[in-house]
Amino acid sequence: MGLLDTDLLRRDFPVLERDVAGGKPLIYLDNAASTQRPRAVIDAMDECYLQYYSNVHRGIHTLSEESTKAFESARETTRDFLSASSIGEVIFTAGTTAAINTVARSWGDANVSSGDVILLLISEHHANIVPWHQLAERTGCRVEFIPVDDQFEISDETVAEYLDRLRPKMFAFAAASNTLGSEYPVKKWTAMAHEHDATVLIDAAQAAPHQEIDVRDWDAEFVVFSGHKVCGPTGIGVLYGKETILNAMPPFLGGGGMIMNVTTDGFTTQDLPEKFEAGTPPIVEAIGLAAALKYLKSIGMENIHAHERILGARADAGLRAIDGVRVIGPGPEKKGGINSFVIEGVHAHDVSAFLDGRGVAVRAGHHCTMPLHQALGVTATSRASCYLYNTVEEVDELIAAVADVRAKFA
Ligand code: PLP
Repeated sequence: MGLLDTDLLRRDFPVLERDVAGGKPLIYLDNAASTQRPRAVIDAMDECYLQYYSNVHRGIHTLSEESTKAFESARETTRDFLSASSIGEVIFTAGTTAAINTVARSWGDANVSSGDVILLLISEHHANIVPWHQLAERTGCRVEFIPVDDQFEISDETVAEYLDRLRPKMFAFAAASNTLGSEYPVKKWTAMAHEHDATVLIDAAQAAPHQEIDVRDWDAEFVVFSGHKVCGPTGIGVLYGKETILNAMPPFLGGGGMIMNVTTDGFTTQDLPEKFEAGTPPIVEAIGLAAALKYLKSIGMENIHAHERILGARADAGLRAIDGVRVIGPGPEKKGGINSFVIEGVHAHDVSAFLDGRGVAVRAGHHCTMPLHQALGVTATSRASCYLYNTVEEVDELIAAVADVRAKFA
């Protein structure tokens, strides 16, 4: 498996044709923050708004029936993308953050008490840290972190040692780190956690865009991801949960859509998945998400992954070869298309501004992983993240521009 035909692919992404910085072709390497949308997604959403938009589920008129059909068909597409067993296990949320908050509130409040441990990786995104800190404030549980070693890696032995020693109630970790780029052995670590009776949540925000996901094979209780990182719209994400565990959990948000019956004394809830979807759902966003997932599947997740790994490895090697540049992450064989780096003596914001002047969009800062940055003793990093539409030439321009930053500021 090699590189994708980007000449063909890029025609699907109108935004990639634009110039920035006074005439430089846009080189979009900020995909870990958010991806661009292909025309198929824009068209599917436009079609809904232009032809058949209405609220879903309760209307007995043509538009509502058509919207409901498209919305529920989007759920089926998402189920298929995840290889989940049933559509009841696929809950639409506002994004990864909302999905993790739902689990921390609903599952957490019902199952976690004082003295229990929530185990995370030090590299987690704030979305997979703060909801657990909040749970700790409510319940008195403890949040513990597995560190990375001096190669920015986490071994199976280290995970086993933390599971053995801390016996966590929940082990929640990202399948792929948005800062280090590391891809972790989800199935293996989930099985290890289950041997210690821990519940497992996988933050797949950086995995769903890039690799095949089979939630039945992973076997984690919860898997979450965001639409805008898989070429879909903002404002939508997915909470997958095993049916038995979702059935046992109380609903988090209350309101319309999630109830079977409401009286002056109380309420009864809908079955899955509506039980966790209070209020008008993200209808057009779900339709856009389904178009995005179909688009990615038509290219092939393995092909996308292979393409990004080639570009990621090229960027990794090129950056490491520049004097004064340090890549904050493991070697290319352990990661995908993300490369975070620091340039000695130059602040990440200056790097980003310089690169922008060359048309290269990267992200600068802590990437919502402050505990990782604190542990590594760096305040900010620059992050270049590739996706399916990036090219070898773009990666080479990144490397050349970083070399020029070094030459200019050193
Ligand atoms: N988890 C990871 C690993 C991420 O990279 C991100 C976004 O950058 C999130 C969670 C939060 O996703 P969202 O902002 O879409 O809720």
